[in-house]
Amino acid sequence: MFKLSRSGSNVPAEVQRWQYFLRTQGISQVGPVDSQFGGNTEVGTKIFQIQSGLNAHGRVDEATLDAASALEFRILNSNYYADRSSLSWPNESTNLRSPSNAWRNRLFVCFEFLQKRRGQRPDEESIVIKGSCDDSVADWEDAFIVNLRDDRLQFAVGYPGYIRCHRKAAPKIQSLLDVWEQESLLHLAINYAGCFVPRYMRGKAPHRLRGHRRKKSKDVSTLSNHSFGSAFDISTTWNWLGDTPAQCGQKGSVRELVESANAAGFYWGGHYSSRKDGMHFELTKL
Ligand SMILES: [Zn+2]
Repeated sequence: MFKLSRSGSNVPAEVQRWQYFLRTQGISQVGPVDSQFGGNTEVGTKIFQIQSGLNAHGRVDEATLDAASALEFRILNSNYYADRSSLSWPNESTNLRSPSNAWRNRLFVCFEFLQKRRGQRPDEESIVIKGSCDDSVADWEDAFIVNLRDDRLQFAVGYPGYIRCHRKAAPKIQSLLDVWEQESLLHLAINYAGCFVPRYMRGKAPHRLRGHRRKKSKDVSTLSNHSFGSAFDISTTWNWLGDTPAQCGQKGSVRELVESANAAGFYWGGHYSSRKDGMHFELTKL
């Protein structure tokens, strides 16, 4: 078990988990789930102790953890993080790969898109999606992209209350959140940075300045899966594109989420062989 206190040498991910637990108990005084055991977390802990009929000293000790565990807070054994501390943990799943361009176009429907001049697009890689390639729908986004309302990421900074994603990805994302909730892992999503975002992969836009006219998504393999609404980003700062994803136990680490994501058909960007993208989970199997 991990004891926590304001002056203690705390495992950051355990502070996150404790803060998240307090928030689910309705103790909003804790503020954002940020892994820092400061004054707000101490006050939140005291409130929880008072509610539980304990001595309100603000330290997470054995009695406090006992009371929390009666409310389904998971008590981890003290080797938990040490056992997962390798930077190659978890291993890449042997039967899962990043989705191919053919697969995503077949499943999510090919679209036509263009890229505006640099001064007219929000960022370097942004594109504008038009209709489907077979002309059956005039507005691809309107036909296929939905707002999945779900409150499971409610304590993640930047989460708007819904995930804007492809309608075929929505039930898969929802069942992944079900699993993460059952496994008490939702404290690991400390911020949320979107799902459907029409753009090329970072650094892969073909023309810096002038953009381009209409192309078909089935002909372009450098579009991001975010363009199809089948990938989402969480806990960004600690798992930045090109960086080694945060180690399990450290602030913002998402590594504990990966095995169940793989089982649900999502590939983790932290397993890319070249440029790691640890914030990124993409649907690759239905
Ligand atoms: Zn991403």
